[in-house]
Amino acid sequence: MQPDYEKLLASVHDGVYFTDTDRRITYWNASAERITGYGADEVVGRRCRDNILIHVDENGHTLCHGRCPIVDSIQYRANREAKVFLHHKEGYRVPVHVQTAPLQDTDGRIIGGVEFFKDISSEASMQLRIQELEQVALLDALTNLPNRRHIEPELASRFNEMERMGLQFGFLLMDIDHFKRFNDTYGHQVGDAALKVVAKTLKSSMRSFDLVGRWGGEEFVCILRNVDLRLLTKISNRLRLLIGSCRIHHGAHSLEVTVSVGATLAVQDDDAVSLVKRADLLMYQSKANGRNRVTVG
Ligand code: GH3
Ligand code: MG
Ligand code: MG
Repeated sequence: MQPDYEKLLASVHDGVYFTDTDRRITYWNASAERITGYGADEVVGRRCRDNILIHVDENGHTLCHGRCPIVDSIQYRANREAKVFLHHKEGYRVPVHVQTAPLQDTDGRIIGGVEFFKDISSEASMQLRIQELEQVALLDALTNLPNRRHIEPELASRFNEMERMGLQFGFLLMDIDHFKRFNDTYGHQVGDAALKVVAKTLKSSMRSFDLVGRWGGEEFVCILRNVDLRLLTKISNRLRLLIGSCRIHHGAHSLEVTVSVGATLAVQDDDAVSLVKRADLLMYQSKANGRNRVTVG
């Protein structure tokens, strides 16, 4: 028993049309009608480049006279795929993923081409939305730095690298000194401006393969790849001095903040909890010893 191919084609979710070798449309299914707005009665018998679909690429270049995938399929007996924008009957553009193939008769002669096309507009906007949500979830809104939810898996990756490849890394925790007093004196908004200044300074002075993030409140962390104790101490002090030399503008005043730092190297038996705890204790040692200093351990 022969399956009813025509019924099958009529009901598939993708738009499907056939053309002859002159690109005159010979078949147009219901999904093609839904995606483009053109009914079969309006297009069958016409050539697709005659003001119907007028595919363009992402740069707006028309594909009808030159790089048309269906022409390619007919000329070279090849299957083609492309992301193009077709022209809806109402005038707007719809992004579609098209697949074309040559149409052959039973003797293998090329009698035209077939195009399957899939509307990807909702897919594209969904992907954009997911990217936006990921950004919101992983970046701190005030400073635009990675937040703890982003930093924790990064830390896990560094531990993984250390275990598999023996790559050492350093961890640095810094906390702004007397920040409550700063807020109380100048106001929360100026406090926010100070946090942004610290964040920008850290970000711009990091090596590209290091990570800096906002751990919470007025605490920042850095994960430094491939460092020894000497380099870790040097980088920590450089960051501390750079932050201390920043100026936060507030009316006629020019304010400054300092940070206390705890810095340590990850060792064999560490996990994220033990590493952060050690850095935190070292940072408190910096506070106890007078603030605006680095303690490495
Ligand atoms: P120490 O030198 O011991 O760290 O003193 P501190 O005052 O910095 O420490 P404490 O933990 O008592 O205060 C932290 C302050 O940080 C309290 C809070 O108002 C401020 N803070 C935390 N997050 C933010 C923020 O997003 N914006 C502003 N403006 N302030 C913040
Ligand atoms: Mg704190
Ligand atoms: Mg503090």
